[in-house]
Amino acid sequence: MSFSSFVPTAKLLMGPGPSNVHPDVLKASARATIGHLDPEFIGLMDEIKSLLRLAFQTENPLTFPVSAPGSAGMETCFVNLVEPGDKVVVCINGVFGGRQKENIERAGGIPIIVEDPWGRAVSPDKVHSVLKENPDAKLLSFVHAETSTGALSDAKTLCEIAKEFDVMTLADCVTSLGGVELDVDGWGLDAVYSGTQKCLSCPPGLSPISFSPRAVDHVMSRKHKVQSWFLDLSLVIDYWQGEGARSYHHTAPINSMYGIHEALLHLSQEGLKSAWKRHLDNHKRLREGLEGMGFEYLVPEGERLPQLNSVIFPTRVKDEAGLRKKLLLEDKIEVGAGLGTLAGKIWRIGLMGYTSHPDNVDYCLGAIKKHLD
Ligand code: PLP
Repeated sequence: MSFSSFVPTAKLLMGPGPSNVHPDVLKASARATIGHLDPEFIGLMDEIKSLLRLAFQTENPLTFPVSAPGSAGMETCFVNLVEPGDKVVVCINGVFGGRQKENIERAGGIPIIVEDPWGRAVSPDKVHSVLKENPDAKLLSFVHAETSTGALSDAKTLCEIAKEFDVMTLADCVTSLGGVELDVDGWGLDAVYSGTQKCLSCPPGLSPISFSPRAVDHVMSRKHKVQSWFLDLSLVIDYWQGEGARSYHHTAPINSMYGIHEALLHLSQEGLKSAWKRHLDNHKRLREGLEGMGFEYLVPEGERLPQLNSVIFPTRVKDEAGLRKKLLLEDKIEVGAGLGTLAGKIWRIGLMGYTSHPDNVDYCLGAIKKHLD
């Protein structure tokens, strides 16, 4: 048996993530590895934190990328904020809300579920009544951008409701960061986690998080030790915070940090508002073409994510899996299948980050049309 270097075929990634990585990000990630406590690297960590604060629109000092994918950011938030016996109101309107519930249970918390149909935003009215019925709830958690359905929830209103009941807020922003408005400080979010492989045009493997000073106080005054050593923020903080004096916690994925730095630099140069507008404009272009071919949106207008288009096929599509395969093999386009109860019922067409470009929209529409005609 002989082995050689792996050289993947370039594909247009129009699924639920990963999206295509910006070539500058790939180039940055290939630069010489240096030590993770080298003063030069510490300078890079400081810049990453500042750039992330711009992206999240926050002044939170505790803002950094966890050295693992989005699921680890999710787990970091729950294991640090939930103690055994804590009541957490969790909104489930898709796969990732279900994972939040699982995290709450594993941290010993008691989930109080607010359920909405898959394909709809979280209902603020339901959240209001559940918080009213549970005055001892500590936390409200929800998914801002539900990648399994393409629904965008109104995080600002949910935070206002949480404030009324003096409850902390925790949001999954894996797919929202860089693609739609996200205002951590303006809305009063206490803990957020995201991913790199969606609208940041970066490879997967890191999870940016941000904790408000109130959330940090909560972590520092816990009664029980966080059960995960790796994700315990009271320990990781010494690696990511403190001017100059950093102590070893784990070896950061150094070259991935070069990548996220470059990606965040691009986002800051483009500007948040321009990035959100680009995602919206390309969504409109795609929507027009898809609706022209008879596709219908799962999510009602006003609750749709521009960067993740969940569409129901026209009746003339008899074999959706076969069509997706043709797109992948013949046209080198990856579109996403439905997840969970939506498997076989919808496609999830992503227009995230570097992928969100009019040329990609036109190429994808042309390929679908070719196969349908
Ligand atoms: N949350 C949401 C909304 C996601 O879309 C994903 C991944 O697709 C995750 C969490 C988990 O992220 P990862 O796959 O990077 O662990």
